[in-house]
Amino acid sequence: MTSSSSSAPELTPSGPAAAAPDPVALLRQAEWQLYIDSRRAGELGQAALDATQDQPALALRGEAWFHVGYSLLRGGKANLAVAANENARASYLAHDDQRGLLMCDEFDGLHLRSQGRLHEAMELHLRIASRTDVVRRPVDLYITHNARALTRKLLGQHDLMLFDFYKSLDAAKTCDSPGPNINALVNLGGSHGDLYNLPEAQRMSEEALDLAEAAGAWTAFAVAIFNLTQAYDGLGLSAQCAAVLERVRRLEHRMTPGVLGNNTPLMAIAHLCAGDLDGARAWLDQGATAMFGDGDGKTDYARAQACYLLALGRNEEARSVAEARISEAMRAQFHDQPYARMRLLQVATDVCERLHDTAAALRYLREAQGLYETLVGRSARAGFIATQVAHEYAVARDDRDRAREAQERAEVDRRRLATLNHALEERMRESQRLNEALQQKIAEAEALQVQLRDQAVRDPLTGLYNRRFLAETSVARIELARRHATPIAIVLIDIDHFKKINDLHGHARGDEVLQQFAALLRERMRRSDIVCRFGGEEFVLLVDNCDDATLAGILDGLMKQFRSLRFGAGEDRLDDCTFSAGVALLDADGADFEALVRVADLRMYRAKATGRARVCFRDA
Ligand code: GH3
Ligand code: MG
Ligand code: MG
Repeated sequence: MTSSSSSAPELTPSGPAAAAPDPVALLRQAEWQLYIDSRRAGELGQAALDATQDQPALALRGEAWFHVGYSLLRGGKANLAVAANENARASYLAHDDQRGLLMCDEFDGLHLRSQGRLHEAMELHLRIASRTDVVRRPVDLYITHNARALTRKLLGQHDLMLFDFYKSLDAAKTCDSPGPNINALVNLGGSHGDLYNLPEAQRMSEEALDLAEAAGAWTAFAVAIFNLTQAYDGLGLSAQCAAVLERVRRLEHRMTPGVLGNNTPLMAIAHLCAGDLDGARAWLDQGATAMFGDGDGKTDYARAQACYLLALGRNEEARSVAEARISEAMRAQFHDQPYARMRLLQVATDVCERLHDTAAALRYLREAQGLYETLVGRSARAGFIATQVAHEYAVARDDRDRAREAQERAEVDRRRLATLNHALEERMRESQRLNEALQQKIAEAEALQVQLRDQAVRDPLTGLYNRRFLAETSVARIELARRHATPIAIVLIDIDHFKKINDLHGHARGDEVLQQFAALLRERMRRSDIVCRFGGEEFVLLVDNCDDATLAGILDGLMKQFRSLRFGAGEDRLDDCTFSAGVALLDADGADFEALVRVADLRMYRAKATGRARVCFRDA
């Protein structure tokens, strides 16, 4: 239900120095007032037009004209209203606003109804209702359902009227303004009253009354008073009726002046029900007024008058007032509201009884009884529809709640999934990080292992393999050479007078010579040969598949290159370094590595002994 504590949106403050009011705010305010104070809604629409008069093409002017037209129509100024509606239509058309155009059609429906062209109006209402392709605001839907329901009321389509009023109530609940909800409750309260479903009329009118008072919707408040006091009167609830009239007296200073005078007969009946004869008299003195759609109010007025006179014991006068109206309505073939006529007939019955005219009393009673049966039938149907609608709404609400719940659950699941996904991604990233770290560690470990292995097999100064590596590898290489019947030579090289180099040029220079010589070895020897520093200034080569002449050529070239190396300058200049080498051949000189090295060593010493700077291939 629309909160009764909600209040209208604030208008742009308008002091003497204030800027022109914001037309958007004016229209928001107009929509708020549409079912609270329709005259005010029209004024706000006009103010929005005034504020934008130098911008005639502005889209919002269509809405402004609509409010002006709607207010004029409700105020009974049909011609001006139609002109305003045409302005609204032109503006909506210029901006291709389908929703707005539909509301202009709705206006036409209302206008047709006010002219009594009910079937044409209904045709239009139904055409508008079928336009599901146009997106409408809650208040648009409210107007549509409410307009259709009111036309159905005038057409006597009671069931469909109730259904449409219930639809309008449903639409009203989603409107910003409390106006539509109040209006829907007022209309439903009135309809249930007309259909003699008095307890429902009472319930809805009481609710409407509270909300109308809170919102200051005084037109609706007055109608709720009429409907509610009628229900109290029909149900014989005098005390409640007196209480609500007391409430009216307390609120009178806040109400729109004269608004209760919209229906003097019902106000008189209310006071009679409350036992306030003077109050009733005051309303009767104002003559009969009635609101549109409720007949001319003459039947109610006659009943009020007759009741008043009866209460004063003026039975003859009471009888003549009642009978005059009963026969007038018959003559005019006027289709009175059956409830009003039944109540008048009941009063006539009472009066005739009191006057001991049993025949007349019986006649009136019979007619009243006939109407009562019609009304009870309608009441039962109205009650049934109310229950059915309540049930449908309960089911719909239930479905809606369930759908919303499912949606919320899905949302929770979606969020949970997102969180899980996030966590999973995080974990995957984490494991990727770990994996990368692990890979790095593995790479480091591998590198370390390579390094360690290298350290184990290589000489740190020259980077050449060490003696141990050569000793181990030579086993397999010798085996392989035997299998393929290819030669293997072991060459042992010793740098000549290396001690002198150290002594004359320093240990660092000695190291440099060793490194440069190692570089020469690496450069000259094939990849399949194994070059190793055997220790100190001694090197051993394992030369694969190479005849003596070729080997001699390689070693000769090596000697020449070594000799051509220059270290230092001036006093420190060092060049013409030489080496002595001994060569041993597999199988010819020894069967394994150790034996071959021994032979090569001997031949190296032979080379030393025979003048150094030479290679010795065999013994003397
Ligand atoms: P020969 O021609 O008879 O071989 O004479 P030599 O001086 O080369 O032979 P000797 O064995 O007398 O001297 C070898 C020297 O090599 C002794 C040692 O201090 C030096 N030496 C051994 N290892 C290294 C090293 O790693 N760096 C340097 N700078 N000198 C080293
Ligand atoms: Mg030596
Ligand atoms: Mg030496």
